[in-house]
Amino acid sequence: MSSTPTYALPSRFLGVARTERSAAYCVAGAPFDIGTSFRSGARFGPDAIRQASRMLVDGDHPTRWLDPATLELADIGNFALALGDIPRSLAALEAQAADIAHLITLGGDHSITLALLRALGRRIGPLALVHFDAHVDAWPDTFGNPYGHASVFYHAIEEGLVEPRRTVQVGIRSPVPKSVYDWVLGKGVTIVAAETVHETGAASTAAAIRRVIGDAPAYLSFDIDALDPAFAPGTGTPEVGGLASWQVQGILRRLQGVRFRGMDVVEVAPPYDVSGITALAAATIAWEYLALVA
Ligand code: MN
Ligand code: MN
Repeated sequence: MSSTPTYALPSRFLGVARTERSAAYCVAGAPFDIGTSFRSGARFGPDAIRQASRMLVDGDHPTRWLDPATLELADIGNFALALGDIPRSLAALEAQAADIAHLITLGGDHSITLALLRALGRRIGPLALVHFDAHVDAWPDTFGNPYGHASVFYHAIEEGLVEPRRTVQVGIRSPVPKSVYDWVLGKGVTIVAAETVHETGAASTAAAIRRVIGDAPAYLSFDIDALDPAFAPGTGTPEVGGLASWQVQGILRRLQGVRFRGMDVVEVAPPYDVSGITALAAATIAWEYLALVA
């Protein structure tokens, strides 16, 4: 534990000093929100999450008994993106993510995950996927744009970046065309609806996730709108009936040993946040992930 007070740490994730891309774990921001279908603002997510993360550096993780801030962890800053251009931004993001050993990306709207999966999937083959979200994000297009934030997993499956039979979506509850929902199920994806999490609990949900992904190399994509708006109001497309932050912690802490190779936490839109609680939830999820994979 550093002698610097938490509030005085530099505005990097967990206040880390390292900034080099060769670190074992790299945090990067993707300040991008032109793929969002409702409220914009996620371009300001990365820095809000970094600010909030400084709450988490005053000791060890209380079940793993290690301090993620003391890992070989760098904050390499924000990725460069192409203003107003989704395909060019995705190409730029993929190129910048390609050589990073283990990347934790702070979004940004969910569109960015397609580029991150392209970068990782091309390196290590089709991935198992743990996807927390209120939405299946498998619409063939988002209001006419093929690469909007509601279409990321449609493309990830069509491009063979993720293995649908090793893909699990947790927290799902939004309005959705039945054709889209059935397409997801038809591909072999497992959906654990928010209501199922509420009825069966964290241990049962974690067991379901483990059954689906097995021992395959896996990616965690966490849309903060998986949480209920009571816990995460600062997001672009909130849906009531969602997960509590303690449920998410209960699930994640039971995924120890899963072969995670990267993660993102996306859709934090600070203009709609209240008292920074959404940014704190996102920072805590990334911190839980680091404690899990360390
Ligand atoms: Mn969502
Ligand atoms: Mn999403």
